[in-house]
Amino acid sequence: MDILELVKSRDPNEREFHQAVSEVLDSIKPVLDRNPEYRSAAIMARIVEPERVIMFRVPWADDDGDVHVNRGFRIEMNSAIGPYKGGLRFHPSVNLGILKFLAFEQVFKNALTSLPMGGGKGGSDFDPKGKSDMEVMRFCQSFMLELARHIGPDTDIPAGDIGVGAREIGFLFGMYKKIRNEFTGVLTGKGLGWGGSLIRPEATGYGSVYFAAEMLNAKGKTLEGATALVSGSGNVAQFTMEKLIQLGATPVTFSDSSGYIFDEKGVDTEKLEYIKLLKNVRRGRVKEYADKFPEAVYTPVDPGLDYNPLWAHKADCAFPSATQNEINGKDAANIVANGVKVLSEGANMPTTPDGIDIFLDNGILYGPGKAANAGGVSVSGLEMSQNSMRLNWTREEVDQRLKVIMHNIHKACAETAEHYGAPFNYMMGANIAGFVKVSQAMLDQGLV
Ligand code: NAP
Repeated sequence: MDILELVKSRDPNEREFHQAVSEVLDSIKPVLDRNPEYRSAAIMARIVEPERVIMFRVPWADDDGDVHVNRGFRIEMNSAIGPYKGGLRFHPSVNLGILKFLAFEQVFKNALTSLPMGGGKGGSDFDPKGKSDMEVMRFCQSFMLELARHIGPDTDIPAGDIGVGAREIGFLFGMYKKIRNEFTGVLTGKGLGWGGSLIRPEATGYGSVYFAAEMLNAKGKTLEGATALVSGSGNVAQFTMEKLIQLGATPVTFSDSSGYIFDEKGVDTEKLEYIKLLKNVRRGRVKEYADKFPEAVYTPVDPGLDYNPLWAHKADCAFPSATQNEINGKDAANIVANGVKVLSEGANMPTTPDGIDIFLDNGILYGPGKAANAGGVSVSGLEMSQNSMRLNWTREEVDQRLKVIMHNIHKACAETAEHYGAPFNYMMGANIAGFVKVSQAMLDQGLV
């Protein structure tokens, strides 16, 4: 049976997972044709099936003493090239299909980093929004009480993702340490004073901008003076804006799930500090930015629209940094029509398949998430190395390594795309380069 048919018939409700698998299958057809051993060893049929799926009950009590039950997950997708590695997402939309798509993407992304990391992903349908710190702590502790038996510094090393930032990683790590009575690098994204790496918070956003700069450089251009559309206002969006400002570009939009800001004058360093305080400390909504800076315009989400007006502003580049499928075909057409030349995906799978086709057909430099946002997991890999050596590298050293990794990922994607007759098709390059690395390891290790 055709692999996609098989995946769909086994798990008909996992729409996002089907989407992620379908994209990779399309890209790797020429590789399978040239290398029959991948088919005879059923590599693809094995890659789409998680090595292990863990699903568990997470009971916790709120501040009033009322008991709630959430669902916890960890998908241990593929360990061919290293221990499982990938973030935890806490968001009400989390389900098995979403986490399987994220874990699947992670396998290829981690292979592209050239660090020894397999792929995994996990999380819960718990919503940290509006919860007190104590409620979040009790939830994290209950979540870790079960997860601890499945992870370890040489087995599976989770990190953050949507809804899981420094606060949550702290509570999760504290509980793991108490249960196991050991201080190890079992999680990444840790605080700087207790095993974290400099540049880890910045890494995904910085890396996404470095990737865009690499794509532009290949065409003899730079980001200097460019106007940028950014979506999201969390970890990835904040540090995407920070690096853009440092490189002389001007972010003019950002968003949260309630609406978006258009600031024609641009977000500068001072305004970005306000956003960081607003989102990371006060945990407020982006709407408040327009109250503070009256030149900015806030537009609430209109559920009746079949496109997102954020993507309909004039700009030179775009950095989707919120969530999956946030750019549909109509948005992609608007992005093209408004002059965007380069798009780097800080978020995972933010563009729908018809949107990607529009970018590729119109010659936009399109950096797919599994390449463009690999900076985060790369520095997580560097955090693991520092933990193992019990050493801390300087900010400059980690940032330099991140730049080199992003440069090498770009090079691998570009050369692979060229080799397969599709120059500048970074999506095809990323899918093939990641697939070949993982598949070769699986072939070497036999039928396991
Ligand atoms: P975050 O700090 O939790 O921020 C997420 C941002 O996206 C928030 O502004 C959030 O708005 C918005 N958002 C989330 N779900 C949304 C939805 N359904 N509709 C509209 N907006 C939504 O998370 P993050 O770490 O920045 O992650 C953002 C994206 O980057 C995700 O796709 C994640 O998988 C990807 N990524 C993250 C990392 C990393 O190192 N953190 C690495 C690689 C890829 P609200 O506040 O309203 O929810």
